[in-house]
Amino acid sequence: MHAGFPLPDTEWDATREFWAGAARGELVLPRCDACGSFNWYPREQCRSCGQGAFTWTPVSGHGRLFSWSVVRHPFLPQFRDKVPFVPGLVAIDEDPRVRLVTEIVDCDPGELTFDMPVEVVFRELRFPGVEGRVTAPLFVPARGAS
Ligand SMILES: [Zn+2]
Repeated sequence: MHAGFPLPDTEWDATREFWAGAARGELVLPRCDACGSFNWYPREQCRSCGQGAFTWTPVSGHGRLFSWSVVRHPFLPQFRDKVPFVPGLVAIDEDPRVRLVTEIVDCDPGELTFDMPVEVVFRELRFPGVEGRVTAPLFVPARGAS
């Protein structure tokens, strides 16, 4: 566990580019140089073709809500100011097999539905008693979604 927990560790090699992208307002994911598949979480070998070279590539930030839950009780003291909040899994439009663990914000949890369109927003994460802040890609219900 790193010093800033529960902030994400932005210096960890495997995901450093992900957090650097978020800081620039870009959602970037590793894309296989051989077959073009996006892979997430980062892995050593592409799950589609088995090759091992990737390029961090921007995606549209549009996706579909795959699953979610509503947290009403903080399971860690650092989350006490945050409840209720909605951790979720978002399948990206570029490849619905690619799902990001994220948080759904600016939403009425009662109106969330499976497969609804969502889009990325970038927000600073910070926690009481924890130094620092990290810009993270979170998702909101897509504007104009029906
Ligand atoms: Zn591949």
